Amino acid sequence: MSFSTLGLSAELLRAIADQGYTEPTPVQFQAIPVILAGRDIMAGAQTGTGKTAAFTLPMLQRLTPGAGGGKRGAVRALVLVPTRELAAQVGESVRHYGKHLPLTSAMVFGGVNINPQIAQLRAGVDILVATPGRLLDHAAQKTVDLSRVEILVLDEADRMLDMGFIHDIKKVLALLPKGRQNLLFSATYSDDIKKLADRLLDSPALIEVARRNTASETVAQVAHPVDRIRKRELLAHLIKSGDWRQALVFARTKHGASRLAEQLQKDGITATAIHGNKSQPQRIKALADFKAGVVRVLVATDIAARGLDIDQLPHVVNFELPNVAEDYVHRIGRTGRAGYSGEAVSLVCVDEHKLLTGIERLTNRDIPKVVIPGFEPNPSPQTTPTPTPNAGRGRTQQTRAPGQSRDNRDKRAGHGARSAPKGGENQSAGLTKGR
Ligand code: AMP
Repeated sequence: MSFSTLGLSAELLRAIADQGYTEPTPVQFQAIPVILAGRDIMAGAQTGTGKTAAFTLPMLQRLTPGAGGGKRGAVRALVLVPTRELAAQVGESVRHYGKHLPLTSAMVFGGVNINPQIAQLRAGVDILVATPGRLLDHAAQKTVDLSRVEILVLDEADRMLDMGFIHDIKKVLALLPKGRQNLLFSATYSDDIKKLADRLLDSPALIEVARRNTASETVAQVAHPVDRIRKRELLAHLIKSGDWRQALVFARTKHGASRLAEQLQKDGITATAIHGNKSQPQRIKALADFKAGVVRVLVATDIAARGLDIDQLPHVVNFELPNVAEDYVHRIGRTGRAGYSGEAVSLVCVDEHKLLTGIERLTNRDIPKVVIPGFEPNPSPQTTPTPTPNAGRGRTQQTRAPGQSRDNRDKRAGHGARSAPKGGENQSAGLTKGR
């Protein structure tokens, strides 16, 4: 199966070849011809399935001069996304795939100066990728004209609803013309998503590609039992002995993520953290440095990592297991994407065994447990609570692991035992939200 049978133009096929893609992914194969035909779609597809190209390629083709003919200056396609990071990624895809076409695009999201966005919109933009909050700011200031939108894409619609964007979405819908094509992408089908789809879509084609909770077959999963206080040391050992070039490491709290990145730096491993307390420019820089290989390790919280698209990421590490088993599937979906193989490593201490069992039940597979020589867990451990995003600041007593100095113990206990301030990552979802 090749892209050339899907009805895409020579310019788009060239851009696809430039990206190095040889064949369409299942969602692309199913969605592209239907979107080209002008139909609405409702697609169940998660990040990592190639969904961005599945809507971007046919959208670009339908907007290409000759195929439409909108007024210069008015937005002709609007892509709504839940987070700034996803906006930046989708915007980048639009630019890549559209590079041989005479179309203009822009991204608008919060957390950055609005004036350059206004200047871009004024100059005329065919395709606008936006988070709902900032888009409404522009609408209120009359710096965006949405009256000529021909195609609307709601990307990661379930996440937008989870983040409380339904009212903003309704306000945006009210600004759009009635006769338009609507494309809705969602990883899950809740009742709220069905309601939104009913209201929005006109006899949509239904496309379903990846069953939810299916851990990618191309990801090798392993769990290393280890004492909590030795996790950082084990991680450094795995990175160094395995000569890992690039690893995305998940921590539960913003504080824990920052601290781990600092400690790895001290161990001689270049690392940076990405989470909701970082400013937008800091986050963009962290991601760019990681993608460019300037830093080997990116430590992230779940919310900050949503929508991150890093090509062929070889290693994902759960420094702490997530409380919610579904988040494990999202996390390891960062590797082994679009057919590349990857490895997902979980560092599991005694009080996380229950979480691991929950994950195995959800994904319906056993995750092999491999003890790394030299890091055998203490057979009679005293457990310490895993840090949670919203827990208080109190320190927890911790026992010294065999063979460890007091200094080391104190340093490490600081990571495992100290929790984030109140109002942790969960409550700060608004920071990545599009205002
Ligand atoms: P997405 O699900 O849109 O976030 O895409 C996931 C990843 O797959 C991105 O890194 C894309 O660059 C990549 N990708 C998209 N389509 C293809 C394809 N047909 N072949 C190989 N990689 C692809």
